[in-house]
Formats: sequence, structure tokens, C-alpha cells
Amino acid sequence: MNPPNKTRIYLSPPDIGELERRYVQEAFDTNWIAPLGPNVDGFEQELAAYVGSGHAAALVSGTAALHLALRLCGVGPGDEVVVSSLTFVASAAPVVQLGASCTFIDAERDSWNLDPALVAELFEARAREGRLPRALIVVHLYGQSADIDPLVELCDRYGVALIEDAAEALGATYKGKSPGSFGRAGIFSFNGNKIITSSGGGMLVSDDAELIAHARKLATQARDPAPHYEHTELGYNYRMSNVVAGIGRGQLATLDQKVAARRANFAHYVEGLGDLPGIAFQPEAAWGTHSRWLTCLTVDAEAFGNDREAIRLALEAENIEARPVWKPMHMQPVFQEAPMVGGAVSEDLFERGLCLPSGSSLSQADRERIIAIVRGCAR
Ligand SMILES: *Cc1c(COP(=O)(O)O)cnc(C)c1O
Repeated sequence: MNPPNKTRIYLSPPDIGELERRYVQEAFDTNWIAPLGPNVDGFEQELAAYVGSGHAAALVSGTAALHLALRLCGVGPGDEVVVSSLTFVASAAPVVQLGASCTFIDAERDSWNLDPALVAELFEARAREGRLPRALIVVHLYGQSADIDPLVELCDRYGVALIEDAAEALGATYKGKSPGSFGRAGIFSFNGNKIITSSGGGMLVSDDAELIAHARKLATQARDPAPHYEHTELGYNYRMSNVVAGIGRGQLATLDQKVAARRANFAHYVEGLGDLPGIAFQPEAAWGTHSRWLTCLTVDAEAFGNDREAIRLALEAENIEARPVWKPMHMQPVFQEAPMVGGAVSEDLFERGLCLPSGSSLSQADRERIIAIVRGCAR
């Protein structure tokens, strides 16, 4: 039934081409094996152009990019930062690492992203108390943009810095533009499981040239311009290497094909599973294009005849990786003291949500296997 050598199907494995090899080879051939060089410059320019941001800094990870974004927006000890609860821990950890604290906000059903109505309520309440949050981190989940316009308006009105965690949303659109390009700063990730990978890396983007110049300085141990080592502030070692940037450049060149492949996965899942009672896919909001980085669905156990976990375990038994939807931050033991606004939607999505294998190299045979196993779990 389950030969142990059956090749594992991963949730979202890397999908690497020839161009990546060429850029990396070039780095070796020209001895640019350093955290600067033509691939870093090229990757920054090409990504900034793709997402429509003025400037970009290539960094060691998306988490490092978020850490710098927060610091450059003035977040420090005692500050409050408002964060989407339904996300990966990296959206919130840098807030705490800067000595600030998180207040979490629930998702809305139409996109599974931050609910702007709840943000409005919180900002109003905070304005009345006379202590506004320093920043808002909006996460664009699973390849879908949050509803950005009302958030930009709220942040402008109350003087709160808008930071976009677009780690999962490269290739998505909001009203024709890329998420990550609307806020004071935006971040992307090129971790191994993202829609494109550099084997690990991240990018900070902003229209503010000074912010990005300062980010580059902080990312290289905050060296002041001097022939010796001079420091008027402290930084980090966060710059991306020129070898890694070569992989990223090659990947970025095929991003549109990767979005198309992931959207095709989604279409096949809908065709193969959409008729089953109790199965509902993450909706595509009217404001933009979902990249379908991951195809996610919810399971109504009563209608379907089995719960989310039964499906996940049936897939795992066949050496297929599927994952529950993110466990919300307000449910995490490490954040049990953090204030939370709402919560019912993200708790329900965690309880019933499942992410299916969604890689851009997923074959038709793989998809058919997965669909057959899920169908086998139905009543
Ligand atoms: C992957 C991810 C990050 C972190 O990116 P790294 O490059 O792995 O540090 C941050 N936020 C979200 C929502 C992510 O999915």
C-alpha cells in the first residue's frame, strides 16, 4: 500500500532552472563571493522594478528585512505594534526583539487577511486613550493581498507606520499593483518554500531612498564612511551574498511562469475537489490576483464526513506533505499575554484549514494522486 521509497511530495519545494546556474557561475568566475557585487545590485534593481517600489535592499532573510523595517520606522522599547494574528511567527518576533509589544488582530473571511474594520476600531480606541501604536504590520497571506486601501487611509489618518509583510505574496496584485509597494516599507522572503527562492534570503523595499540607504548601512554593521572602522550607531550583519543573489535573480526571471503554474495547481484542485460537500477554498478577493503560493481549503467535518486532520494524516501516510493553516499568534503560548482584537475567524481557519502541495513543479500525476486521496476521505 505504502512503499517506503515512494517519492515524497513536498508542500512547496524549490523549482530551479538554468539561469540561476549561470548567475552563480558568473559570481565564481569573477570572484564576487561576497555580500556585495553585481548579482546583489541586479537582484535589488530587478525586484524593485517588478514590484514597483523605488528602492530595495537584499538581505539574509525576510525576518531580517522586517527587523530593519521596524527599526527604521522608529519602533523601540515600550512601543505597541499591531500585527495580523493569522501568520507565521516571523511576522511578530522582530517586534518583541526590539523591545516593543504586539497587539494582534483577527482576519476577515473574504481574503483570510487582516480585517480593516477591526483595525479602525482599535486605532479609534487608542486615539481616545492618547497612545497610538507605532506601526501596523499587515501580512499578505498565502499569496493573496490584504485589502490595503483602507489600511493606508487609517495609517495616514492616525500617523501609524504601515509595514507590509509580503513574504508570501510576491507575484500577487492589489488593484494592479504589487503588495509590499504601498506601505512605508515592505518585505519579501526567498526562503526555500516561497514562490521563488535564493536558498534563503529576503528583500526590504520602500519608495524612500534614505530609508533603504540606512537599511543597507545597518545591515553591514552600521559602518560610517571612513577609511577605518567608525560607528555612531549599532547595526547587524544582514547583507545577502552575491552567490545567493545570483540564484534569486535567475528565479525572479521566471516568477510569472511560477505564478501561472501555482494558479494552475489551484484550478486543478478546484476541478477535482470543488464538488465535495464541506470543502471550501480560500476565496480570491475582488481587489486583485491571488498567486496561489499555497492552495488552502477549509473542511466542514460534518458535511465532508471527516475532519481536516483525517485528510492531512491520509496524505502523510502516502508520503505527501500537507499542513494546517497557520496557528494564530494570539493562540501561541509565547504570546498568551498579548492583547487580541476579535479572533473567531482566525481560530476557525486554523481549526479547519489545510494547505495542499502547491509547488510550481508539481506534476499532473502528483495532483491526481493527491485529489484521489482527499476524495477517499469523503463520506
Ligand atoms: C516566510 C515568512 C517570513 C520570513 O521569511 P524568512 O525569509 O524565512 O525569514 C515572514 N513572514 C511570513 C508571513 C512568511 O511566510
